[in-house]
Amino acid sequence: MKKINIAIDGFSACGKSTTAKRVATALGYVYIDSGAMYRAVTLYLLDKEVDVLNQKKVVEHLDDIEIDFNLNKNSNVCETYLNGVNVEDKIRTFRVASKVSYVSTFKEVREKLVAWQRQMSLKKGVVMDGRDIGTVVLPHADIKFFMTADIEVRSERRKIELERSGKKLSLEEIKTNLQERDRIDTTRSESPLRKAAEAIEIDTTHLTFDQQVQKVIDLAEGLIHED
Ligand code: C5P
Repeated sequence: MKKINIAIDGFSACGKSTTAKRVATALGYVYIDSGAMYRAVTLYLLDKEVDVLNQKKVVEHLDDIEIDFNLNKNSNVCETYLNGVNVEDKIRTFRVASKVSYVSTFKEVREKLVAWQRQMSLKKGVVMDGRDIGTVVLPHADIKFFMTADIEVRSERRKIELERSGKKLSLEEIKTNLQERDRIDTTRSESPLRKAAEAIEIDTTHLTFDQQVQKVIDLAEGLIHED
């Protein structure tokens, strides 16, 4: 059977990662969470007390950062490792979420991570989600999706997700963070968040999780089974 690469982009907390993960499992594909890589770089810098707004200082540390994904055999989920240490929980904190979009504006950071992301996708059979996957990382992806959802619904979903992992934040704090990240991600000069011309838009506001996953799988399978 033909293997394809699937790109999923969109605003923060539209359900990209959860959808991409489920689609990858259903198709037996590899899931690559590009956002986790930007988060891991940010975590490294924060732990080293680097001023994340200072491009020169940030760039000085890039050669010291290695990121890998390793399968957790218990949960069957790939987790993020920073210089050999599992940081899957640490990169999901508000501390990282509130700074990651600043770090992601820097050209050198993007060049390093994009090179890794392309390398990981060479063998096809990849589902990758992020902000520039269809436009920059995998411009020749076989199928591209662009996910959107109403900001209130996104904030509510993120709140539930954070609560599940024991993190309590007000709806207002979450909404402000999502809006701020969307603003920075769409207005930065280096690979801003854009819908690729050929991307299929999915508004998940009124979709259940299963519906949004099924939509992606159906369209992807149409290509996989094509002659
Ligand atoms: O996808 P996630 O919300 O984990 O991404 C965190 C942040 O990383 C985004 O808000 C964005 O600033 C950055 N990012 C990016 N390009 C990607 C993936 C994420 O700039 N491909």
